[in-house]
Amino acid sequence: MARPDFPRSLIEFQQRFADDEACRSYLIASRWPDRFSCPACGGAEVGAEHRRRLWQCSGCGRQTSLTAGTVMHKTRLPLTLWFWAAYLVATHGPGISALQLQRQLAISRYETAWTILHKLRRAMVAPEREPLRGEVEADEGYLGGRDSDLRGGRQRPGKPLVGVALEVRGNGSGRLRLQLLADASGASLLPFVRSSVAAGTIVHTDGWAGYSGLGAAGFDHRPKTQHAHWGLKHEWPLPRAHRALSNLKTWLQGTHHGVSAKHLQVYLDEFVFRHNRRLTPLAGFQTLLGLGTSQPPTTYAQITQHH
Ligand SMILES: [Zn+2]
Repeated sequence: MARPDFPRSLIEFQQRFADDEACRSYLIASRWPDRFSCPACGGAEVGAEHRRRLWQCSGCGRQTSLTAGTVMHKTRLPLTLWFWAAYLVATHGPGISALQLQRQLAISRYETAWTILHKLRRAMVAPEREPLRGEVEADEGYLGGRDSDLRGGRQRPGKPLVGVALEVRGNGSGRLRLQLLADASGASLLPFVRSSVAAGTIVHTDGWAGYSGLGAAGFDHRPKTQHAHWGLKHEWPLPRAHRALSNLKTWLQGTHHGVSAKHLQVYLDEFVFRHNRRLTPLAGFQTLLGLGTSQPPTTYAQITQHH
């Protein structure tokens, strides 16, 4: 049995997660799709709930927190609040601020909304590391300049440089990866492509020397020079990657009013998260809550930690 599916609409979400008990059932079904299994003895029987959201194995007495390994671990807030916050963060196209979250969910303290938001955001960091496949555009661009400056030269001291890798899907684009880079040298670009793209994949780049090692690194490297595209007016050699960088800059300015370099990678991860789930935003709510199957197994420390 697989973990439960996710609601497909706001109405369905509202009906399914109307109260804490409903959220709890969903949480349990997500963590133990078949049946509860004690991490210590494998027993399936639990006695009465020992404390709030804490189960005690009837066989060996080991206590298991229902929320261990999820973003809700140790929380004193209602589960409904977490579910609805995750829903809003996952489905609110450009992203949502702590203030918006506070207002939408009638959270009395701003600090609570801020904490929830940042915990949910942490789940956007690399929950999926399946490498890009098929055909990929790889490029890099500086943030902080005008859009037309994106490729206006590889030296831009003080401006953050972002590597972009994006799957080609017909005329559109597939999954995206973004990474803050130290510089545009091969020593920075090759590890980025290696960690983002499966070996053997067709990788389109421009003619920049920093990408010249891709062939030797096991990729089907297809560099395009500007010259080869001379006949196509205003056509970038890597249109999808360029569009992604352009959208990223707009998003950073519009939603977050610019971001300091210190926190930039977190926002890059959020942008990637939203891009890769733009067609199924509701599916993201499971990931944000930490209910995904890709979560690492619950650790002993997490299980034994008490509230
Ligand atoms: Zn047990």
